[in-house]
Amino acid sequence: MALEKNENFFELTDENDRASAIETQFNEDALEIARKKTLPETDPDFDGVHCIECEENIPAGRLKLGKIRCIECQTVIEKQGKFFAS
Ligand SMILES: [Zn+2]
Repeated sequence: MALEKNENFFELTDENDRASAIETQFNEDALEIARKKTLPETDPDFDGVHCIECEENIPAGRLKLGKIRCIECQTVIEKQGKFFAS
């Protein structure tokens, strides 16, 4: 019985190690993505107010973050980025 319990314990430990390793990788990826997202973007065509893709007004909150695209266009770009990266 004691041995059985030990085996289960090691299995759990291994599983936890694997989970935390995955979590660490995930966190690093998330940090890298977050770092890219917080970098102010620039474009010669950007007038400081309108999305460079569709010329919609960019919400003030996004402008403060240095964004040059509206949420819709940003989403499209990010989806394309993931597509090309894979
Ligand atoms: Zn747009």
